[in-house]
Amino acid sequence: MRKVTMKKANMIKFRINDKQVEARQGWTVLETAKEYNIDIPTLCHHPAVTASGSCRLCMVELKEGDWSKLVASCIYPVKEGINIYTETPRVHNVRRWIFEMLLASCPASEEVRQMAEKYGVISTRFSVHDPNQSCLVCGLCQRVCEEVVGLSAIAVMDRGVHKKVGAPFLRPTDICVACGSCVTICPTDAMAKIFDTVRGKPELPLSQLA
Ligand code: SF4
Repeated sequence: MRKVTMKKANMIKFRINDKQVEARQGWTVLETAKEYNIDIPTLCHHPAVTASGSCRLCMVELKEGDWSKLVASCIYPVKEGINIYTETPRVHNVRRWIFEMLLASCPASEEVRQMAEKYGVISTRFSVHDPNQSCLVCGLCQRVCEEVVGLSAIAVMDRGVHKKVGAPFLRPTDICVACGSCVTICPTDAMAKIFDTVRGKPELPLSQLA
């Protein structure tokens, strides 16, 4: 009983959408929201790897008194007494902008298209550089390879619109053990498309890998 009281005392209390929630020390706003089944869209987040905040879809509004700011919920640590709102006009506006940018950077992704549609975004005002691209360069593949598999068979290269993922120096690497973790964690079909360019000459087709 005492243990339970101690645990409760260590919990951080704050509000999401005017509802009181409790979080453990070190949790982020997104982790707390998931605990309470509050939906926040993400593409670059997976609990198995370090959060990067790269896709920015998980932006939420933090209000304190008369001011507010947008924060990326997957990397924002919870604090006692803060007020978080996940569905305000400001939040929806920024998500629509991000979806427009994603529709331009990875227009071939069915997953992105379907998520964007839910926010009423069906086209983009940004330039499309590659209509066949479905990679949003979220880096999940690189992080799972490094942090979970313990290898560095995938690199994130270049900057801005030229940023891309692939084998280091874009040469198939024999470091890759073809575990398929990168393909599984990829939020689109992008890693499956370039998998053979990372692992080199395949001994087994992708469909037969565990
Ligand atoms: S399949 Fe290769 S590149 Fe992908 S996570 Fe496994 S070791 Fe890394």
